[in-house]
Amino acid sequence: MPKLTITIDGPAGSGKSSVAKRVASLLGYSYLDSGAMYRALALKALERRVALNDGTRLEALAKETHIELKAPTPELEAAGAKNRAFLDGREVTTEIRTAEVSQAASLLATIAGVRRVLVAEQQRAGAGGGVVMEGRDIGTVVFPRAELKIFLDASPEVRAERRWKEHQEKGEAFTLAEVLDEVRERDRRDRERKVSPLVRAADAVVVDNTAMGIEETARLIVMLANERQKEEIAAAGKKV
Ligand code: C5P
Repeated sequence: MPKLTITIDGPAGSGKSSVAKRVASLLGYSYLDSGAMYRALALKALERRVALNDGTRLEALAKETHIELKAPTPELEAAGAKNRAFLDGREVTTEIRTAEVSQAASLLATIAGVRRVLVAEQQRAGAGGGVVMEGRDIGTVVFPRAELKIFLDASPEVRAERRWKEHQEKGEAFTLAEVLDEVRERDRRDRERKVSPLVRAADAVVVDNTAMGIEETARLIVMLANERQKEEIAAAGKKV
């Protein structure tokens, strides 16, 4: 069976991470969370007090930084982690999940030089296929020739509620209204930025999971992947 490259893009709280991780596990593919790379770099910028609008310094920081994503340990997975993230060799899996890092990542993600560096790393990490990569520009910029592209969406209220529940589970006292504001602000920035904005690739399948759970959404995508594989095999047969 040919191994596909599957891209899942969508706004914050659309369920990308949980769904992508489950799709990867059902298909035996690897899973890569590109947002974790923006988050890890944002954490370093915050620690070094680099201004989040200083494009020159942030691009230089991206070039000298080594970010690695690995599969989680069973304990981390049980705690909700989808990928382990390492920043210059130091594990930052949980540190990159704060509201402060979310906002910083979305600011730094507007800088073209930063994106160039991280996109090249994502392309290296996903080369060879058999991968489910999720983010904002995976189907449009990182893997524009991916065999299956999904644009995952859900209503802003449902997305905010999912994020709010995650904060609750971590004992973080945000109100639902605060989280809705945060999600809307990040979406606006992701959709309106000049470089690689969050848009649906023309050939992406839109999946609205406002009223669907993770398992249902993941199984729908696996069905689409199976169809796509059959098409690939049929197309390869015609060429022989
Ligand atoms: O997906 P996640 O919420 O972890 O991403 C954090 C931020 O990183 C997003 O708000 C977005 O601004 C940025 N990002 C991006 N392109 C990607 C993945 C994430 O711009 N491929």
